[in-house]
Amino acid sequence: MRYVIITGGVLSGIGKGTIASSICYLLKNSGLKVTALKIDPYLNYDAGTMNPYQHGEVFVLDDGSEVDLDLGNYERYLDKSLTGDNNLTTGKIYKEVIERERRGEYLGNTVQIIPHITNEIKRRIKKVAASDDLDVVVIEVGGTVGDIESMPFLEAVRQLRREEFGKVLVGHVTLIPSVGSNEELKTKPTQHSVKTLREIGIQPDIILGRSPRKLDAESRRRIALFTDVPEESVISVHDVSNVYLIPEIMEKQGVVRIIKKSLGIESGPFTDIWGEYRKNIMNPRAEVTIAVVGKYTELHDAYFSHKEAFTHVAGETGINTKLRWIDSDSLSVDPSPLEGVQGILIPGGFGYRGVEGKIIATKKSREEKIPFLGICLGFQISVIEYARNVLGLKKANSSEFDSSTPDPVIDILPEQKAVKDLGGTMRLGSKRVRIFDNTLAMGLYKSPEIFERHRHRYEVNPLYKDRLEKAGMVFSGVDNEGTRMEIAELPDRDNFIASQYHSEFKSRPLNPSKLHLHLVKKALEYKEMQKEALLKTER
Ligand code: GLN
Repeated sequence: MRYVIITGGVLSGIGKGTIASSICYLLKNSGLKVTALKIDPYLNYDAGTMNPYQHGEVFVLDDGSEVDLDLGNYERYLDKSLTGDNNLTTGKIYKEVIERERRGEYLGNTVQIIPHITNEIKRRIKKVAASDDLDVVVIEVGGTVGDIESMPFLEAVRQLRREEFGKVLVGHVTLIPSVGSNEELKTKPTQHSVKTLREIGIQPDIILGRSPRKLDAESRRRIALFTDVPEESVISVHDVSNVYLIPEIMEKQGVVRIIKKSLGIESGPFTDIWGEYRKNIMNPRAEVTIAVVGKYTELHDAYFSHKEAFTHVAGETGINTKLRWIDSDSLSVDPSPLEGVQGILIPGGFGYRGVEGKIIATKKSREEKIPFLGICLGFQISVIEYARNVLGLKKANSSEFDSSTPDPVIDILPEQKAVKDLGGTMRLGSKRVRIFDNTLAMGLYKSPEIFERHRHRYEVNPLYKDRLEKAGMVFSGVDNEGTRMEIAELPDRDNFIASQYHSEFKSRPLNPSKLHLHLVKKALEYKEMQKEALLKTER
């Protein structure tokens, strides 16, 4: 087994995850068997209870783990589904060690960070390495070198490198800013951050320098001189117009060759499977505008997988999606931000704030036949809107938002009633969805069953199912038992669909979410119609 460990220096948020994911892509498409492990040094057990405002979207894996959104990137770059073991947090490590201590497994010894915590970290790393038939594990250590939280992980990396001599490569991602009127590239922050890394006993093998423009020979020489990294192993990861170009610029500088040489592994040549895909994204043939109506719209990372799914659609169809971020709260006062869009997406969410605005957007879509996609909360909203405005149950609501509503068309899942803890207790992960014949959903999936990822506590109240259906709503997908509604459609609409599951989580570069794909195709048709209508009025 070989390990590629990516650490970060200077600043967080400079693209360490993208660089590590790109390395995964490069190694995998050179014929190696690769997996990824993301280390998040925070104390939370997992990302499940984290506020999307602070931390971006909570990503969900097949096994129901709620993880950092970077795991989504690894899945997409590797085109492989990961598990909760592929995300390590301080919370998981300490919980395990403390539980073991309570069981008396440390035989009376003092339990310490070194060796007990570091041993547990290494055990978890090796568990991932042994979980599959693998050649390389790419490990991203979150945070920046010098942070208190990441210390035990870096110490474990130091030990691992000693124990697995010659089989561990450390790549350090740093920032190389350009300053002054002559925009000189500054290598000093890199020198300092490598110094900090060395203080904890880790000498990096390669430096991945994030810079606004390509590193010049002089900067590379200086970095090599101060860090003892060979010049050819100082890699320029400069700004590019599209993140999907990053693997290519790294590969051109010989990253794969350097990694393989250093780790003593051989493989075939690298094949860039994203060639056509990337071309479509960068030179789209058409564009549509889709409104994303949510309450976390200031932080677009809260909807990261949706953004990715639209990119995947662009890669397949050549239709670029411009997202118009609309704060759902504002729609109750002024619905004009919805004017001129060719599609509406209502993504997942929790809590009442912004819900009425989402209902306004859904009503507009239904009445004006604007292409619509509702996901999770968006699915529930489409049911509430239908109940209120078509069935005439004026006060219909979800019991999540109004515990005394006379018509709880969305109600808590029966098994959720007894749940007290918030972390990891929703209906989570991959579940079978059965799809009925002669529905839009069947047309899109072309299969009577699919497996999709879930994250919710509420569902369509079965007591209202018949009435909703009589009024026209079509539940074209249900759960394995047939009692839980999974997909909703409208009878006379081929451009309105909503799902209880999160189709964005399994969207991949060469296999986009069917629902996002459909929304974009229908949005383009709608755009043509808008154009024709305009021409007619002008005539
Ligand atoms: N709040 C809703 C529920 O818990 C929807 C959840 C979601 O959109 N992820 O069922």
